[in-house]
Amino acid sequence: MRILILGASSSGLYTALKLAQREVKVLLCEKESSFEGRRLILTSYFLEHFPLRPKVLYEVKGYRFVAAKTEGIFYLKKPDVVLDRKDLLFELLKECEKYRISILWGWKFERMDSQRALFLTPQGPKEIEADYIVDAMGVKSPLRKALDPAPNLVFLKQAQIIWPSSFKDGLSTIWLRPDLTPYFLWLFQDSPKTGIFGVIGENKEQAEKALFQLAQEEGFELCGRTEEGWVSLFQSKFLPKHRNVFFIGDSAGHVKSTTVGGVVSGLRGTKALVESIQSGRDYFKNLLPLRRELMIHHLLRELLNTFNEDDYRQLITALKDSSYLGRLCRDTLFPDLFFSLVKSPIPSFKLFVHLLPWLMKKGIWKLLLKR
Ligand SMILES: Cc1cc2nc3c(=O)[nH]c(=O)nc-3n(C[C@H](O)[C@H](O)[C@H](O)COP(=O)(O)OP(=O)(O)OC[C@H]3O[C@@H](n4cnc5c(N)ncnc54)[C@H](O)[C@@H]3O)c2cc1C
Repeated sequence: MRILILGASSSGLYTALKLAQREVKVLLCEKESSFEGRRLILTSYFLEHFPLRPKVLYEVKGYRFVAAKTEGIFYLKKPDVVLDRKDLLFELLKECEKYRISILWGWKFERMDSQRALFLTPQGPKEIEADYIVDAMGVKSPLRKALDPAPNLVFLKQAQIIWPSSFKDGLSTIWLRPDLTPYFLWLFQDSPKTGIFGVIGENKEQAEKALFQLAQEEGFELCGRTEEGWVSLFQSKFLPKHRNVFFIGDSAGHVKSTTVGGVVSGLRGTKALVESIQSGRDYFKNLLPLRRELMIHHLLRELLNTFNEDDYRQLITALKDSSYLGRLCRDTLFPDLFFSLVKSPIPSFKLFVHLLPWLMKKGIWKLLLKR
């Protein structure tokens, strides 16, 4: 069996590595010839579940949420880690080299012609035949673009700034500003003296305007590079296998819609794919735990997108004195919510009663019934 993997970023490289470790023959094709850097913030789930050790630049001990002059600080049970995408990809590449995985750099996938994948390469057009194709080409995937439903894209932009002395060390800030974006703006530290200030917007224009306005309001001082790009959010209607093509990572929309984090969920999807290629079990079935998790994030995002500043203020006030948020991990939200309910039923019930009138006002039932 010969497997062709398109795209050598976190999802593509990890799939190649895991398949090669199981002695499956793989070939990777990547359109670029170098990796682009990008600061990433990942939960402790990453270090606990993936045997990769890229350099940790900084640790995030907690989050400070700000909305309508109200703020709430939530400390995490286990810190999040700040990494650079380049370090993560080099770490993966090093592992791939141990298994002598072939990677064709500068090979840009163009289209499929029955079983053959057609490429534009530095040596001219080329084609490769494969039994299975793994699409790890992210949001730019031509294969994904040709399928329904159209990807649900959001735009991220972030810039390195001088860490403001009035901000606490190791504490990230999240600004909930529906007047600027239905998503959020953030600041996390990537060194003792610098931080990454960023935003998620529905489009590039909205993201840039929001970033510029808050930077001015807060008096932030730009000191380094800016990074930006589109990310595709989870869509329950998109089926991640079409004929002999498997979709993983951003091209499958394996991204948490609440925080727009796609690295860990992309890697989790990869594990499900490798297991199904090896065992012959249905890929969709193997993906169910991840899809359930992403569905919870999707529902929460639909609800949050209806919020105004006052709703966020009420939410922060309701959660402020409980350690609830700090106990939840963004990558295990479904089991964490369930176990919180079982382990601490009284605080959970109190919180639910507190939030109930407001959830009803927001039409949460309609959202759930719609699903
Ligand atoms: C500014 C920004 C900040 C982010 N911050 C975070 C964060 O803090 N935490 C987090 O979890 N996520 C974050 N994300 C999202 C995260 O980066 C993505 O979810 C993740 O990189 C997806 O990985 P992937 O391997 O699926 O796809 P990608 O990383 O997009 O990789 C796709 C690969 O396919 C290649 N490719 C594309 N087209 C072709 C083609 N035609 N032929 C061959 N190769 C091709 C590309 O060159 C690339 O190497 C951020 C995104 C952005 C833009």
